[in-house]
Amino acid sequence: MKILIVGAGGVGRVATHKVAQMNDVFDEVLLASRTKSKCDGIAEDVRENFGVTINTEAVDADEVGEMVSLIRDFEPEIVLNLALPYQDLPIMDACLETGVHYVDTANYEPRDTPKFEYHWQWAYRERFEQAGIMALLGSGFDPGVTNVFCAHAARNHFDEIDCIDILDCNAGDHGLPFATNFNPEINIREITQPGRWWNETNWEEVEPMSVHESFSFPEGIGEREIYLLYHEEMESLSKYLDLKKIRFWMTFSDSYLTHLRVLENIGMTSIEPVHFKGHPIAPLEFLKAVLPDPASLGERTKGKTCIGCLVHGRKDGKEKQYYIYNICDHEEAFAETGAQAVSYTTGVPAAIGARMIATGEWLKPGVWNMEQFDPAPFLEELQNRGLPWTEVDFDFTPKPQTNSTFVGDRN
Ligand code: NDP
Repeated sequence: MKILIVGAGGVGRVATHKVAQMNDVFDEVLLASRTKSKCDGIAEDVRENFGVTINTEAVDADEVGEMVSLIRDFEPEIVLNLALPYQDLPIMDACLETGVHYVDTANYEPRDTPKFEYHWQWAYRERFEQAGIMALLGSGFDPGVTNVFCAHAARNHFDEIDCIDILDCNAGDHGLPFATNFNPEINIREITQPGRWWNETNWEEVEPMSVHESFSFPEGIGEREIYLLYHEEMESLSKYLDLKKIRFWMTFSDSYLTHLRVLENIGMTSIEPVHFKGHPIAPLEFLKAVLPDPASLGERTKGKTCIGCLVHGRKDGKEKQYYIYNICDHEEAFAETGAQAVSYTTGVPAAIGARMIATGEWLKPGVWNMEQFDPAPFLEELQNRGLPWTEVDFDFTPKPQTNSTFVGDRN
């Protein structure tokens, strides 16, 4: 099969390395991005590391016509979209026009309103079905692997689920005062939103970063402060899995939050354009231009990420708690692909998602989220392609009632 990868950032770099190692299914790869020199740099590294040739092209994926021409020239079976969330709809339109499968890692966002909602992409369902092609949405780590972890827990470990807490910890250190681990614009739009979580029948909303507590992460990472955020996978998981509550938590250091607060207070995280020397400039876009490029952090980042799901419910009439997680080492990820663990944990599942379609294990016309498929083949690939996972069952000991939001007692 031929695959077209769009986006030559950190995630595109990792996915290209992984796809190059899947030559049992992908025999031709084209990497295209706005800046062709970035594609060439990645192609050169892949050639050195694996002796595999990657074709490269420049494309502006905001332009449906350009995408359609590129697809018609190269004739791929799958397009793996690793550009930014703004490009999701134009690339889906191009896939519809050319009859090619589509995979991404982040849901569509309009540039002028940071909204993390699937409805724009779910609206393509019938058209994809009619065209006999498939779109797999959110095949990164979170969303992505977290959805698969939840589906696996629901299928194999629980009869009833009361609550899922998705816990995302980056215990890495790049030694810089302030930098984001992936695209700064997308990252800051995400974490400055109100926190939201699903509570039985409705979304509860809290001020950004106002709910937090500590959680003890496994395998030497230890106690970290986790903050309640809204994250897109909760929308599909609360719809497609039978569960009462779902929440998402992410770790942040005090220094990161102090920098963020100052930037917010002085208006630098706003997406409303201001006029500067006769030009409209969105402060957040300018901030992105002065912050370190996340791709440059790889070389200097040490430590680990730990992302997983803590599930609380019942099996065979007994209350239980279950934790499934992956640990990824920044330095090992860099040694293999030239990118740190945040890009690695996204790029590997992106490549596996494309592989699931290519092998036919997850092939069904329409628009789908990850938890709608059998988790087993995906989890097996994950174990073997650099993201091994661990699952642990805990005897549940009820905690005394406190004012804190209950995340879990892993004794
Ligand atoms: P980067 O900013 O590093 O890379 C994005 C790439 O997309 C750049 O190479 C950029 O090109 C290219 N691009 C941007 N606009 C266009 C366009 N109009 N046409 C063609 N190419 C374009 O981002 P990351 O690699 O860190 O992230 C990639 C995606 O992964 C994002 O959508 C992000 O939200 C998602 N993500 C998902 C995660 C998950 O777990 N699900 C976690 C982390 C990220 P150029 O450099 O030339 O401007």
